[in-house]
Amino acid sequence: MVDPAAHSVSAATAKPEAATRRHAPEEPPPAHLYEKQKTVHNQRIDGRFRRFKWAVMILTLAVYYITPWIRWDRGPYAPDQAVLVDLAGRRFYMFGIEIWPHEFYFVAGLLIMAGIGLFLVTSAVGRAWCGYACPQTVWTDLFQHIDRLVDGDRNARIRLDAAPWGPSKIARRALKWTIYLVISFWTGGAWIMYFADAPTLTADFWTGQAAPVAYTTVAILTLTTFVLGGFMREQVCIYMCPWPRIQTAMLDEKSLIVTYKDWRGEPRGSLKKARKEPEKFGDCIDCKQCIAVCPTGIDIREGPQIGCITCALCIDACDRVMADIGKPRGLIDYATLEDCEKEAAGEEPRPVWKALLRPRTIAYTMIWGSIGLAILFALGVRNHTEISASPDRNPPFMLMSDGSIRNAFTLKVRNMESRPRDMQIGLEGLPGAVMWTGEIGRGDAAVTQVIKAQADQTKTIRAYVMAPADTPVTDFRFTVTSLDEQRETDTSETRFSAPGDN
Ligand code: SF4
Ligand code: SF4
Repeated sequence: MVDPAAHSVSAATAKPEAATRRHAPEEPPPAHLYEKQKTVHNQRIDGRFRRFKWAVMILTLAVYYITPWIRWDRGPYAPDQAVLVDLAGRRFYMFGIEIWPHEFYFVAGLLIMAGIGLFLVTSAVGRAWCGYACPQTVWTDLFQHIDRLVDGDRNARIRLDAAPWGPSKIARRALKWTIYLVISFWTGGAWIMYFADAPTLTADFWTGQAAPVAYTTVAILTLTTFVLGGFMREQVCIYMCPWPRIQTAMLDEKSLIVTYKDWRGEPRGSLKKARKEPEKFGDCIDCKQCIAVCPTGIDIREGPQIGCITCALCIDACDRVMADIGKPRGLIDYATLEDCEKEAAGEEPRPVWKALLRPRTIAYTMIWGSIGLAILFALGVRNHTEISASPDRNPPFMLMSDGSIRNAFTLKVRNMESRPRDMQIGLEGLPGAVMWTGEIGRGDAAVTQVIKAQADQTKTIRAYVMAPADTPVTDFRFTVTSLDEQRETDTSETRFSAPGDN
């Protein structure tokens, strides 16, 4: 019988001080810290996690490349691109939602939701984001499939790598890097489509009429995709990206991670040896299939480590091996450290879904959902008509020949509908006062005035307010009402200056 405590990688990970070897100051650092990068030639594998990874890859790439081409009718006064960051017009369009610059809190809310969503995913299923949906993972996976397509599977690629340069190797490398470049260029090209009307920008781009920033952005993104996805791959995850370090701090013994069940697999031995003396060996036949399929080239049997992006391809590989040798699946599996300890002690394994339902994940879900509902509610009740007023400071008032007092203001009237609307602006809380604007002469001065606001526009208006001679310094309001069936209103509090104001 194998002593679980003696081999418990999981237990060592739960108590890192037990597994971390300390080096004396005079001792040189271990050579493997500075080991030269070895190219990872991961092997093709099929299985349920690989199929899930295919589905996520196809979905994320399709969303990224196709979204800018989806049209959304907003009428004649607004762009018809479903998702558009209109920098020139200072708007963010997302299907039926239009975010103005002063509503940036909606974007902040979405970013907070994305952050909490990552916390939620990490606390529930470990580094699932890294394993399935992170752009670095998706593009690396895509490029690894190109490798397989052009150079063959793992062994053929290892042989080709070791072979001297010759016409065949040059031709294959040229073909592979050209495909990398085309994908990288397409990736950079898709990005800029989010910032302008996609069909127009495509035509401008190919006829040399696009803005220089468009060409520069495409060039930078082409280069970064080519280098990061084509050559740096797992190095980005292990050395460059800060997220694995943050995630490690967020994981606890109740988080699902990909784990090698050492109490079941150890001591490992070849199939031949294990068949000869089954009582001496665990289930691992040391076939190294789990290492061969790993996109980061690590050995999960050494325990959870930063290089593991939790893609679960080693689970698929090991499940196949277990099926071939007639052992139960799950020698490598998604499990929590807490469950591993119980399982090692002989208890029944807990269903995976139970690990998802715990106070921390429920709390994250509730916070995430509450922010989402708050954003939806705010979007549902937001006003599409707004007014703001700022008084002239110099001079704050003018005395007219008949003794009445005149103040000047700059009004900003916002029509957030995609159609022109008539708006009535007026005065409240200033008895006897009348107003006129730069467009409406003093001869037509009245308590209210009607202006025309263009679709999707903030109109700036010079407004003059005249009050009787004895009017004191007082606070009052400008009001705006849309003269359509919506009758939306808004007010802006401001101050009327008069002699004696300081
Ligand atoms: S695939 Fe399974 S049996 Fe083979 S080495 Fe890995 S853990 Fe052991
Ligand atoms: S060890 Fe397994 S789960 Fe981790 S990255 Fe490698 S294949 Fe994916």
